[in-house]
Amino acid sequence: MMLKIAYSDIFRYSVPEKHRFPMQKYTMIPERLLAEGTINSGNFFAPARLSEDEILTTHTPEYWYQLKTQTLPRKEARAIGFEMTPELVERGRYIAHATYECALYAQQYGVAMNVAGGTHHAFADHGEGFCVFNDVCIASNLLLNRGQAQRILIVDLDVHQGNGNASIMANEPRVFVFSMHGAKNYPFRKQVSDLDIELDNDTGDVEYLQILEDTLPRLIHEFGPDMIFYQSAVDVLATDKLGKLSLTIEGCKARDEYVLQQAKAGNIPVAIVMGGGYSEDIEEVVEAHCNTFRLAQQLFFAESVD
Ligand SMILES: [Zn+2]
Repeated sequence: MMLKIAYSDIFRYSVPEKHRFPMQKYTMIPERLLAEGTINSGNFFAPARLSEDEILTTHTPEYWYQLKTQTLPRKEARAIGFEMTPELVERGRYIAHATYECALYAQQYGVAMNVAGGTHHAFADHGEGFCVFNDVCIASNLLLNRGQAQRILIVDLDVHQGNGNASIMANEPRVFVFSMHGAKNYPFRKQVSDLDIELDNDTGDVEYLQILEDTLPRLIHEFGPDMIFYQSAVDVLATDKLGKLSLTIEGCKARDEYVLQQAKAGNIPVAIVMGGGYSEDIEEVVEAHCNTFRLAQQLFFAESVD
């Protein structure tokens, strides 16, 4: 029984300076968790790479061909926001497979985590918002196709709507997409999830947690998932440059704790993916993400000493 964490050197693939995506967090989070002793190197596993067949469970052959041959039209590459390179595509293949492997580990140990992933703005036929492949949708389709899960709940608490998830799973009744996000934030043209909750700008801890507590237990009860993917993005923080909400780091931690407790109490495996986080101070981002890992370790694996 241990917290399995997907991590690979390729997650750190550095992209040009100019965009706003803080890639440093992918190195800083594992380093901090190791240094403080929350985990040791034995917690990490190196994920495999998605095969083409696995990609095609979710993405269109045309889009995959454009990625593979680096022939994505410039406009579509720009919507993704990263310079399109073969390495970026490779990175995405490992990250998405990692999310699938986390789901399998979660079925064994209750919870597992990816030090990346949550690329919920990727659609079947195009990418956008820093997302190339949709890792959670690919992982969900693989689980369903292989008979490894029957009913999957996506709990997406990134401040941005999971428009790719909503679109890809629109006609898949075995996957329930729950997205709670800023009403006045990217994507400005939203898709329809199974449940969307739109939050006003400046929503703070108390209100946010109240809405979550009023919603999540009911969803779990009514839908009856046998797998949960939790997108634990920290762009809900007040300090986030893109977020527009007003959560404190403690509120963000309480949010994670609540979701994990719900999964644990219902005996439902939970695979955690990271999603966004864009505070000016990278420390804030790293600390808030590390809290999710600390909570998972504590709630699921801490040995009781009495
Ligand atoms: Zn986001």
